[in-house]
Amino acid sequence: MASKVAIVTGSNKGIGFGIVRGLCKRFQGNVYLTSRNEQRGKTAVRKLKEESLHPNYHKLDVTKKESLEVFRDYIQKQYGGIDVLINNAAIAFRKDSTMPAIVQAERTLFVNYFSLLSTCEILFPLLRKGARVINVSSNLGHLSQIPSSTLRNKLKDKNLTVEELSDLMTQYVDATRQGAQLLKWGKSSYAVSKVGVVALTRIQQRMLHDRDIKVNAVHPGYVATDMTAHAGPLTIDEGAQPALYLALDAPDSVRGEYVWSDNTVVDWEASEMPKHVKQNPVE
Ligand code: NAP
Repeated sequence: MASKVAIVTGSNKGIGFGIVRGLCKRFQGNVYLTSRNEQRGKTAVRKLKEESLHPNYHKLDVTKKESLEVFRDYIQKQYGGIDVLINNAAIAFRKDSTMPAIVQAERTLFVNYFSLLSTCEILFPLLRKGARVINVSSNLGHLSQIPSSTLRNKLKDKNLTVEELSDLMTQYVDATRQGAQLLKWGKSSYAVSKVGVVALTRIQQRMLHDRDIKVNAVHPGYVATDMTAHAGPLTIDEGAQPALYLALDAPDSVRGEYVWSDNTVVDWEASEMPKHVKQNPVE
């Protein structure tokens, strides 16, 4: 039997690193810690080796098609397939960032939504039957973060296509360029990108259903990482826990869902997000 493979993007630090650590402890197969910067990645691998864990390493910048293709070809040649893919890599501008809104919107949507999408487009052909994909979103990825009911209706439409969703994400960037985004889209590029990730998850589940692949989105909780200036109350291992649950423990019936930090399936379309979580300080 081919040996199993689990891949975590952006895993040289933070929650992704915690996910790799958890997978190394429990996943029966090869676990890939990946990073855009080779030195940071290798330092992270060394750290885990000191804990007697044995991750594999490959460089992967999710914003670069060539990097994704080199990685895909490597995995194809070495193993012939992927069993677990965790799309964790993302960025966030801080609330007090002085970067112009359009720069924040372009950059955030490019990394968090469009690059996650190209990662999937390039790696999905390698997913084995029964594979699991976890797209790391956020509490700010809850649909209620979008003020316009017209947009919410489009985003939750059961027939929404990837092309239509990407077009909506581009419309957000265009609206920001014109300074006209606040009323319909709200004030956070990060939230729009993470809402996009959940909407994408639901579409991907429909597309991959026939191959018995499970695609879910997750809110990891409010975690002490560089992204939150270490303000969150959860450790990276705690933040890794819901993604690990989806990768290793969730019943096969959990498909196309938005899963909260306590492993519960949350109604993404509800008018409010679950109350028990403090807002992230990002944006
Ligand atoms: P983090 O500590 O800032 O880590 C982000 C990781 O993504 C880093 O390894 C970073 O690499 C990597 N990354 C960024 N751009 C990349 C690229 N182009 N290619 C490959 N890797 C890239 O953030 P975190 O808090 O662990 O966040 C992990 C995930 O959880 C993100 O999707 C985030 O949105 C989500 N999330 C976090 C929280 C929280 O409270 N922390 C809450 C909700 C959701 P570098 O080291 O090279 O920058």
